[in-house]
Amino acid sequence: MSTVHDEVLAANTTYVAEFGDKGSLPMPPGRRFAILTCMDARLDPAKYAGLAEGDAHVIRNAGGRASDDAIRSLVISYKLLGTKEWFVIHHTDCGMETFTDEIMRDLLRQSLKTASVDASGWHDSGDGPGSPEAEHVSFLTISDQPRSVVEDVKRIRSHPLVPGDILIYGYIYDVKSGRLNEIVEATEAGQVS
Ligand SMILES: [Zn+2]
Repeated sequence: MSTVHDEVLAANTTYVAEFGDKGSLPMPPGRRFAILTCMDARLDPAKYAGLAEGDAHVIRNAGGRASDDAIRSLVISYKLLGTKEWFVIHHTDCGMETFTDEIMRDLLRQSLKTASVDASGWHDSGDGPGSPEAEHVSFLTISDQPRSVVEDVKRIRSHPLVPGDILIYGYIYDVKSGRLNEIVEATEAGQVS
């Protein structure tokens, strides 16, 4: 087993010892909201948005994008578990701004190993074989953060499975300060319709 594996289990033992009465929490989020945000390791929604266990749904993927699967989770969050407000939160310095579908497909065609990045871009030095399978994957990369927040809020707002009475807000988290900055055009697009 790896060091990380042991560290995770040790941390969990401590968590269990301090778990208290959280075993009696109900399944529906107590504060009736959900956050869709990036998987970036620097972002901790529980801390930046003040969440405790049982408060809210947090849906994470690369970029915090409104993918079909993110929308699947949001629909369940509302339809079965009663959330009423959704935050779409992208962030500054997102890794999704550093590549395109074509770059990713080329890297994966060469090898499946971890690539490296420098001032001239991404490079693959791993041993093959790679795979052409990424031709069939849209990686939902980002070229403009405010625009991607607006696009994602609009996509959720106009989705046929999303009712008009959910409030949707668009924000960009600043990794330098920890601050959430509203994207007004996104929040306006996310108003009750
Ligand atoms: Zn990111």
